[in-house]
Amino acid sequence: MIARIGSDTRFAAELLRKGEAVPIPTETVYGLAANAYDESAVLKIFRIKERPSFDPLIVHVGAKADVGPLVHELPPGADRLMDEFWPGPLTLVLPKRTAVPDLVTSGLDTVGVRMPAHRMTLELLRDLAFPLAAPSANPFGYVSPTTAQHVADQLGERIPYILDGGACTVGVESTIIGWEKHGTTLEGAWYLYRPGGVSVEAIERVIGALGTKAAQIRPIAPGMLESHYAPRKPVYVGDINGLMRAHIGLRIGSISFRSPFPVHKGEVLSPSGDLGQAAHRLFAALRSLDASDCDVILAERFPEEGLGRAINDRLRRASVSR
Ligand code: AMP
Ligand code: MG
Repeated sequence: MIARIGSDTRFAAELLRKGEAVPIPTETVYGLAANAYDESAVLKIFRIKERPSFDPLIVHVGAKADVGPLVHELPPGADRLMDEFWPGPLTLVLPKRTAVPDLVTSGLDTVGVRMPAHRMTLELLRDLAFPLAAPSANPFGYVSPTTAQHVADQLGERIPYILDGGACTVGVESTIIGWEKHGTTLEGAWYLYRPGGVSVEAIERVIGALGTKAAQIRPIAPGMLESHYAPRKPVYVGDINGLMRAHIGLRIGSISFRSPFPVHKGEVLSPSGDLGQAAHRLFAALRSLDASDCDVILAERFPEEGLGRAINDRLRRASVSR
């Protein structure tokens, strides 16, 4: 089986209704989607991705009204966050109803929910009578796909059809936040689980400061896995000039923000210094260096603000040695 790539949302909907897993475009990255209420359809996602079952999936909805059947309680601020950022790259982790299969949430009593900002996928979701569980459409642990071709390159032989909606405009995964109660009181706070396409600054303008924790005490909820989003080649993050001196004699690929470096193959993500544009280009740059004849990938640290926080997070985890 070799996947056909096309833009036929009706055909994609038909496959999804039959319980198939279908790659779909979103503004963040391509997702591998299946009926969130159908356990055997969701199981196909895990099989195709070779994803461990302890890594929960995000459920995608086409309307705010579709959240009610998934979630039994909306914590303070949730409604405002949805109004402000949906459709868009913000995932809210909320207390789940029993209708959501444990496979989707890895047995957690919460479910991550978001409404993607992609015309074709919203059309698809509104046509379907069920929400779509969808992780990124790539083999587990590798760099996420931001074009239909990226999906075809890696999963093309395992799926019948890829819904092509063009290159992802945001290019990094959603920001994930979750509400946590403090002990048995009614007090609580929103915590950042993964930086992503909506900046922390923008979220804090709506609901105030996010909670911070000294140590991560949640069960590992794996966009939190240390090594993730990783190319096959070794990645080092830091001062590129210093790293070049440490890798003399090797063919070097570099990923930098505004300025090029004198290396074998350099990817400059945004000469004009736009962190949104840099995020949009990050994964394609990592893939292209991984596919090139470079021996090693050196990346600089980006400003820790706006989308720079998500870029640094992905680069750090791409660089953790496996
Ligand atoms: P991906 O779809 O590949 O970007 O990964 C989805 C990520 O969302 C997971 O790896 C988790 O980190 C996070 N996530 C999804 N559901 C939950 C949840 N119920 N609690 C905490 N994190 C979650
Ligand atoms: Mg992923």
